[in-house]
Amino acid sequence: MTECLFCKIINKEIGSSIVFEDEDVLAINDINPQAPVHILLMPKKHIANLDDIQESDQGLLGYIQYRAREIARQVGLDGNFRLMTNCGWKAGQRVFHLHYHLMGGKDME
Ligand code: 5GP
Ligand code: ZN
Repeated sequence: MTECLFCKIINKEIGSSIVFEDEDVLAINDINPQAPVHILLMPKKHIANLDDIQESDQGLLGYIQYRAREIARQVGLDGNFRLMTNCGWKAGQRVFHLHYHLMGGKDME
């Protein structure tokens, strides 16, 4: 049994609003959105954050960016979006399973 919140969401032990899912990636709506569109993209593989990646994860990380762009198009962000990840507590990371915030739908200045 994992204690990781996002692993529990990936394993469907905890419900979420799923935007996209395949064998490698899950995208869900953030429970506390900071923008009209606020989606979290995460690898299904448990990686704590960018400080925890391995050389062999490069393909997966590139795929997440590609998938983020595809989702951004699907939800109508029209080439205007922010994709960011917090690495470490001091950077604001609160869930220690790698995830990218895809945000948009308003002026993000
Ligand atoms: P972090 O601060 O780690 O970069 O981002 C964690 C994000 O996860 C926050 O934006 C927070 O709102 C979101 N979050 C925390 N718990 C849940 C949850 O149970 N479900 C969903 N969908 N999002 C969550
Ligand atoms: Zn996890």
